[in-house]
Amino acid sequence: MVVTAVDIYKKLPQTNCGRCGSPSCFVFATRVALRQEVIEKCVSLSGDELKELNALVSEIKTLTTGTGSNAYAQAAEEIKNRIKDIDFKESANGLGAEHLKEDDKEYLHLAFLNHNYRVSKTGDVVGDDGKPPSAWARIFLIIYINAGGKGSLKNEWISFGDLPNTFAKQKSFKDNSENVLIKNFAGKKEELREACSLLGGADAATEFKSDLAYKFSVLPKIPFLLLFWDENKEEEFPARVKILMDKTVLNFIDIESLVFLAERLAKELCEAKGIMVNTV
Ligand code: SF4
Repeated sequence: MVVTAVDIYKKLPQTNCGRCGSPSCFVFATRVALRQEVIEKCVSLSGDELKELNALVSEIKTLTTGTGSNAYAQAAEEIKNRIKDIDFKESANGLGAEHLKEDDKEYLHLAFLNHNYRVSKTGDVVGDDGKPPSAWARIFLIIYINAGGKGSLKNEWISFGDLPNTFAKQKSFKDNSENVLIKNFAGKKEELREACSLLGGADAATEFKSDLAYKFSVLPKIPFLLLFWDENKEEEFPARVKILMDKTVLNFIDIESLVFLAERLAKELCEAKGIMVNTV
């Protein structure tokens, strides 16, 4: 398997602390992959982690030569070949996708948030509206297809911390997604409601007791449930956010990519309301 920036990113602490001089762990991973940075600049790594990452970096053979100004576009290009050997026909059902064959070319047709995309075996992605998705959406479509998930959803919502083997990533998950939403939407319930609608969230207020409840079909077998309780200044209650997922989620995505997916969803919600979050 060709090692890419995404593989380096998954081994980083994913805290986005910025102490390496990059605005996020993802940008740092891309710079390392491009040999614009050295892995030792991440101050949070132990000796063993550094050793493991150095071994990974040394396996990077094909370096792309772009400017590196857009870390997501760079990484999307790097991982697109990863699905070329996957049997699309066999995988489609497990992924909740449709298998298409046209002019001897195969595609998987599947939804990402509120858009439908067609993914070719060469990792090229185009929307039903003829437009390409954002680079980060391309990354997740490839990661999702490559994971080759199977099985049905349990329709049982659980928190990230309830998933097995997530202890080391719980702080990153909270800081990069739930806390980002608290910081930007506390006292702004209606703005968050609008952002959820803009991203295709389905209002689930009748099912839950929170101030806001929205379900997102992020990928066909990866739904997220966003619960929001707004602050009450008089009673000194701070705002709270929970992002829940189906109990089966790890059948369809790895833990590190799940942290990244929740982080991106939080940023997209902020950006839908014109709020720029200071990681790339
Ligand atoms: S790569 Fe390391 S130093 Fe840089 S933001 Fe991530 S955790 Fe912090």
